[in-house]
Amino acid sequence: MTSTPCPSCRRPKARGKYVCADCWALLPGFTRRALNRRDSRAHPRLRELHRQLAAGMPLSEIRVTP
Ligand SMILES: [Zn+2]
Repeated sequence: MTSTPCPSCRRPKARGKYVCADCWALLPGFTRRALNRRDSRAHPRLRELHRQLAAGMPLSEIRVTP
């Protein structure tokens, strides 16, 4: 089974998850709830997450569109 690495820490993550379990636990609760919604805004949210990770934003400060 192949999987892309966690975009935050580069360790292996579970398939279908945005980040690994350790990094997920560090995200604010409202960010996790928004990312868990698989609606029409899901892809823009994922881009917001990746943009902030690429900018070096601490996981605890990452926010995405609700
Ligand atoms: Zn990670």
